[in-house]
Amino acid sequence: MNLIKDVVIVGGGPVGLYLAGSLARSGLEVLTIEKKKEIGEDIICTGIIGQEAFTKFQLAPSSIDHALQDVELFSSAGGRIKYHHPFPFAYVVDRKVFDQSLARRAQDVGVEILTGLEVKEIIPSPTKVKIVAQGPENQMNFFQAKICVLATGNNFYLHQQLGLGKPSQFVLGRQVDLVAEQSAPARLCLGKAFSPDGFAWQIPFKEKGWKIGLLTSSDPRPYLRKILKSFFPLIPGSENNNLPPLSTKAIAQGIVSPSFANRILAVGEAAGQVKTTTGGGVFYGLVGAQLAEETILEAFQRGVYDESLLSGYEKRWRERLESEIRIGLIMRKVYSLLNDKDVNLLFQIAREDGILPLIQDQGNFDWHSGLIMSLIRHLYHYPHRIPAFIHLSREIWQKTKYITSGEAFPKS
Ligand SMILES: Cc1cc2nc3c(=O)[nH]c(=O)nc-3n(C[C@H](O)[C@H](O)[C@H](O)COP(=O)(O)OP(=O)(O)OC[C@H]3O[C@@H](n4cnc5c(N)ncnc54)[C@H](O)[C@@H]3O)c2cc1C
Repeated sequence: MNLIKDVVIVGGGPVGLYLAGSLARSGLEVLTIEKKKEIGEDIICTGIIGQEAFTKFQLAPSSIDHALQDVELFSSAGGRIKYHHPFPFAYVVDRKVFDQSLARRAQDVGVEILTGLEVKEIIPSPTKVKIVAQGPENQMNFFQAKICVLATGNNFYLHQQLGLGKPSQFVLGRQVDLVAEQSAPARLCLGKAFSPDGFAWQIPFKEKGWKIGLLTSSDPRPYLRKILKSFFPLIPGSENNNLPPLSTKAIAQGIVSPSFANRILAVGEAAGQVKTTTGGGVFYGLVGAQLAEETILEAFQRGVYDESLLSGYEKRWRERLESEIRIGLIMRKVYSLLNDKDVNLLFQIAREDGILPLIQDQGNFDWHSGLIMSLIRHLYHYPHRIPAFIHLSREIWQKTKYITSGEAFPKS
């Protein structure tokens, strides 16, 4: 196969498909190449997408399973908070339906989508970029474009070929799908017993379904067992070794720079456009896609496809997302240093000191730094909590010392 297009997008996930549709709507000839046999096949994702994404990117509501407005928070030391938001703050979507509806929307405006082809090599030159993709019977296919976009998710081997950056770290997202007769709102579990370095979640999905997930780079099995035992005692696996099948996927954490080269851009998780607080990547990826679209249209308008113009994309997306990504990384680090007693103390403070109304008023599912700063300012109004915060700061400081010196933590 030999095709010439204006833009070739490598990766048929939500970000690549959204960008493909937007560019085609502006009159460009676009090809999307996806290595899976079918769009939406075998996706590991809980599918929580903030309300803002649906309005900002005019996403089709057909993939929505239900809205999220209530969440129960649990700490491993027994704390519990019921939280009700004044309006639905996010939606749980069926990711297969979500991705397929983006694919249909792109095809409706002329995007060609080829599945079952894995891009192996990308060769930019002053006049064009060549893309080499391997088919199911190992046959090689060749494509040509003026610009090639990497929307390859957490797959970074093409970045290496092209001299693009990589995220500074990854966290492992683990998920189990359960069937359990239980009527309860979404749950968020904090503390070392639920996840040693992240947090865990339980999201109802469709009739009787539950998505149980956790962010951790440690062996997840003891924590899943604890979650099943605490919340789903009737499910096999809570008492013995037969845990339900577990899916694992690495999530990029940290900005990817450079995210451009001559005739090349990276977008979505492939550019590190992921919320580092939660690991959610769809919304920031779509924000990145919108900024990539602006830059690509400018490149075609001016007939300039080299780094001098494409660097504008990285400048724009970093202005929009970098501080959120960096503050999120710091918050996750600080959180990972807290022990179960500290987390419980945070629960107490949240319940008693007007923090829940502040979250109701200023909380935003996708932009977290504003709320973090408001929470810090809010503490000035509660001087009686200062000893608790001195205690937490001392704990964090001491543990940071051990981490930087490489010594083992003393047993508490
Ligand atoms: C357990 C778990 C739960 C999550 N839950 C959420 C959530 O609730 N909300 C949320 O927003 N995010 C969530 N995420 C993250 C989210 O799934 C990703 O950030 C998001 O899918 C990124 O979109 P993308 O289009 O950038 O990349 P992807 O969705 O990863 O798409 C990339 C595509 O590129 C294809 N590809 C890669 N390399 C090649 C190649 N060489 N040739 C051809 N094709 C290629 C891949 O097959 C893939 O289809 C979760 C992640 C995990 C692991």
